Amino acid sequence: MIPYGRQNINAADIDAVVAVLQSDSLTQGPAVPAFEAALSTRCGGTHGIAVSNATAALHLACLALEVGPGDTVWTTPNTFVASANCARYCGAQVDFVDIDPITFNLCTIALSDKLRLAKAEGRLPKVVIPVHFAGLPCDMAEIARLGAEYGFRIIEDASHAIGSHYLGQATGNCRYSDITVFSFHPVKIITTGEGGMALTADPDLANRLRLLRSHGITRDPAEMTATSDGPWFYQQVALGFNYRMTDLQAALGNSQLKRLDNFLNRRRQLVARYDALLAKLPVGRQQRPDDRESAHHLYVVRLIGKGSQRLRVFQALRAAGIGVNVHYIPVYLQPDYLRLGFARGHCPSAEQYYAEAISLPLHPDLTDEDQDFIVATLERSLP
Ligand SMILES: *Cc1c(COP(=O)(O)O)cnc(C)c1O
Repeated sequence: MIPYGRQNINAADIDAVVAVLQSDSLTQGPAVPAFEAALSTRCGGTHGIAVSNATAALHLACLALEVGPGDTVWTTPNTFVASANCARYCGAQVDFVDIDPITFNLCTIALSDKLRLAKAEGRLPKVVIPVHFAGLPCDMAEIARLGAEYGFRIIEDASHAIGSHYLGQATGNCRYSDITVFSFHPVKIITTGEGGMALTADPDLANRLRLLRSHGITRDPAEMTATSDGPWFYQQVALGFNYRMTDLQAALGNSQLKRLDNFLNRRRQLVARYDALLAKLPVGRQQRPDDRESAHHLYVVRLIGKGSQRLRVFQALRAAGIGVNVHYIPVYLQPDYLRLGFARGHCPSAEQYYAEAISLPLHPDLTDEDQDFIVATLERSLP
């Protein structure tokens, strides 16, 4: 089976992990701060806080922005469940803003309309979490403008989007958000096995994220409520978690980060080939505005107006050994969201997109021959 996504691990990656195994610190050693520094440098000098996975980073981001019971967080339905669950972990409510059928990202017109209504009804969101779907940055300047107008904070879920650019600047620089989150799950652009990072330009938020990552415990006298009893002393000053990344993971991350540009280049080449090969087929594709550059995590085709044929086409591709997938089932259609009162019809564009979408394989080891075979099989299977 040609997988839809797959990690690429080379000898340098393996050596980096083995070196940690032979060192004194498997966790809480030098590799985590080194990885944080390398990635934050690449993202324009924001503070990086490495954590056990992006879901943990999203949870900490919500906590750092003081999301709690009585608050509402908005996100897109076209995402992995973690983008919404993070607010529920904090006791907040979640709502969803429909997608733009052209970019498959959160629609800023739908957002603007929903904000106007919410203001009139006195239920504005505290935080909005745009997701850079498939690696394509959202219209962040407009979302930030609305944030200033309506007073909400912004967490970018950039799990798909490390290496992407918006208005010429690297995602993770947080120019248009409070916190940006990356994932290093093996299907994403670079991997640490499990892993994630939160980036922020705000030093106070960075301190808060760091504190909550490790039990809410501080060893910094400036953060303590009493003078130290001695060199062993620490204080728990908030209810935190153990969301730390290990040095094994961070060493792999650092090695993978050095390879990021190679990964991005190969993904860009493959996407250009898909674009050219698919141009003659009756399928819809994600439109990528000129002012931003995708990291190309996913390549989705849409059977426009032929959602009734999606299962058959999907099965034909799978039967041919092509590991197609679907991203995403609208989050609010999950049983654990339906039970909160969500219903079909809440975000019609996201539902229609979901009915028609198929993700084709895209990863650095995909060959041109694989790709030709995928496109030929798709062409034969189309209605
Ligand atoms: C993968 C993913 C996550 C969760 O990442 P983990 O590192 O697996 O916790 C969150 N949001 C989106 C959009 C994702 O694709």
